[in-house]
Amino acid sequence: MLLSPSSPLHILPSCDPPYKLLRDHPSLALLSKCKNIQDLRQVHSQIIKTGLHNTQFALSKLIEFCAISPFGDLNYALLVFRTIQEPNQVIWNTVIRGHSLSSSPILAIEFYIRMILSGVVPNSYTLPFVLKSCAKLAASSEGKQIHAHVLKLGLESDAFVHTSLINMYAQNGELESARLGFDKSYLRDAVSYTALITGYASRGCLDEARKLFDEIPVRDVVSWNAMISGYAQSGRYQEALEVFKETCNENVVPNESTMVTVLSACAHLGCLDLGNWIQSWIEEHGLGNNLHTVNALIDMYSKCGDLNKARELFNSSKQRDVISWNVMIGGYTHMSHYKEALMLFRQMLRSDIEPNDVTFLSILPACAYLGAIDLGKWIHAYIDKNFRTLNNISLWTSLIDMYAKCGNIEAAAQVFDGMNSKNLASWNAMISGLAMHGKTDKALELFSRMISEGFIPDDITFVGVLSACKHAGLLDLGRQYFTSMIQDYKISPKLQHYGCLIDLLGRAGLFDEAEALIGTMGMKPDGAIWTSLLGACRAHGNVELGESYAKNLLELEPENTGAYVLLSNIYAGEGRWTDVARIRTRLNDKGMKKVPGCSSIEVDSVVHEFLVGDKVHPQWKQIYKMLDEIDTLLERSGFVPDTSEVLYDMDEEWKEGSLSHHSEKLAIAFGLISTKPGTTIRIVKNLRVCGNCHSATKLISKIFNREIIARDRNRFHHFKDGSCSCNDYW
Ligand code: ZN
Ligand code: ZN
Repeated sequence: MLLSPSSPLHILPSCDPPYKLLRDHPSLALLSKCKNIQDLRQVHSQIIKTGLHNTQFALSKLIEFCAISPFGDLNYALLVFRTIQEPNQVIWNTVIRGHSLSSSPILAIEFYIRMILSGVVPNSYTLPFVLKSCAKLAASSEGKQIHAHVLKLGLESDAFVHTSLINMYAQNGELESARLGFDKSYLRDAVSYTALITGYASRGCLDEARKLFDEIPVRDVVSWNAMISGYAQSGRYQEALEVFKETCNENVVPNESTMVTVLSACAHLGCLDLGNWIQSWIEEHGLGNNLHTVNALIDMYSKCGDLNKARELFNSSKQRDVISWNVMIGGYTHMSHYKEALMLFRQMLRSDIEPNDVTFLSILPACAYLGAIDLGKWIHAYIDKNFRTLNNISLWTSLIDMYAKCGNIEAAAQVFDGMNSKNLASWNAMISGLAMHGKTDKALELFSRMISEGFIPDDITFVGVLSACKHAGLLDLGRQYFTSMIQDYKISPKLQHYGCLIDLLGRAGLFDEAEALIGTMGMKPDGAIWTSLLGACRAHGNVELGESYAKNLLELEPENTGAYVLLSNIYAGEGRWTDVARIRTRLNDKGMKKVPGCSSIEVDSVVHEFLVGDKVHPQWKQIYKMLDEIDTLLERSGFVPDTSEVLYDMDEEWKEGSLSHHSEKLAIAFGLISTKPGTTIRIVKNLRVCGNCHSATKLISKIFNREIIARDRNRFHHFKDGSCSCNDYW
């Protein structure tokens, strides 16, 4: 917008009666008593009856009330304004001020131009509000033009105008200009300090902000908030909380905005104690019904792990908005309570609040985890219909991840190929999806394509690439990528990268090299690394090393029952049954419980979960009948159960005494009886598939002519026609 200050500047003579007469007029005194627009209409008709409407003074008072009072109405002000032939300076100023406070501050600038064109000169009551509008609109070039007007009119030494200029520059991010104005100013009032502090803090220049903050003569809640949210926005949550504690010591009364920021800092840091304290403060100060603070509290409690408290607040909140639903669903997902997230999402769909992109970003990981592909597909269709134009790359990337983790890698690829623009995260999701599914060639091919399209891989890309190599046992290639990651892309390897390479070395029986690599890591190996080496010892029958790795693992994770289980499997594989019994006794003495195997399957959009030997499903009788049938058919085709991994599932052994009741077998049996012949069965298991179930499932896929896609803790198995995509390497 180009502003033209070149029009003739002169003030119209006022033809009002003497000011004293008007000021004390009873009709005008009534204005201050108006509490709504109906009252106002009455006063307006009074003004007309008494003939006062012919005076600019009465009209300016009327407009002032309509444009600025909280009981007013800006449109009504404009109606009155249009009846005035030649509005005076005060009236123009009031209309401009009204618009600068409104939701369309652009109109303030438009009226400013009209004011100049009509020949009325702006003054020190006009410019601050025009400048405020420029700040609200981030209208940087208009702001500079107004600055020129200020100079031309000789108003730069006016305190009100000067502070507004500093504020405008600070809010528009032109910190140098703001600083210049501030340094030149003889009067550094709290407002200009606060403006500059806010400008610095919101752009991450926190040291500058803090210096000014320490100088400021009087600190009010606005300047405190600027500091607190500046730290929080820069991810410096601890410092945000420290500033907040200072406010409490200085007896500053925090407001809603302080509370929302501080609660989000608590959420990030997991400070439940401070969060609790803030909730009591909020209740004491009667802010408990404020939706912003309630949403912030729900978010804080769920991120700090107190989901019950969060849900309590959510349930008791009377006016929930989409943010309330999003923070609660996101809280469940964040704490890995995926089933609850899904249930609440279904409840949301039945409510009158529409989900938005943030909702889907929270719920898709829950679908992915539970393998809830039907719901995932429904969300895909919804996004396609309502959010396609939004072009939210994260949303489409979440869909790729969801499809990949739900076992439909083809659908993931379709979403990936259909994306107009992709970012690094989209490539990463697709590469690791392919890796998970054992589609190593495709994953590596996609990696080359990504490079040729100019993307620079990050550490997450290489986790995908290296795990693709790991799943296929490609040791040499894995080594090459590992070296290239360090040398060509200057990425220092993290535990996950080392883990892939160590796993490859272990499986190849190169234990010396694996240990040498651990020695050079410069960080302590985690449980996953020792576990994979233990697994390798089982495959290579290396009892001695297995014992030492198990010791290392138990030092790190004393409660890890998996360590005992793997070790006993190594003994069992070598026929050392006394050692197997010894370990069993030790586990028993310690009263340790292993994580129960749990498998889920989604049928008609409902996720069914099964534990080992579970008889709680409403159709358990039919399921067990099917299991018997499976066992008979397996036996007939010559299947011999492999009992060498028997301790791996010793809990069930005691409960059920049978390998055929593992959770994945229950899920498969349920899938067979509740879906049409030929339908693909997709199941998700929380643990690694045992060798016995793996061989059995291969045969089941052949006997029943079904494709079975199983996701275990590490990867996918596509069972078809009696074989598995992993080639028995997992
Ligand atoms: Zn099993
Ligand atoms: Zn497999």
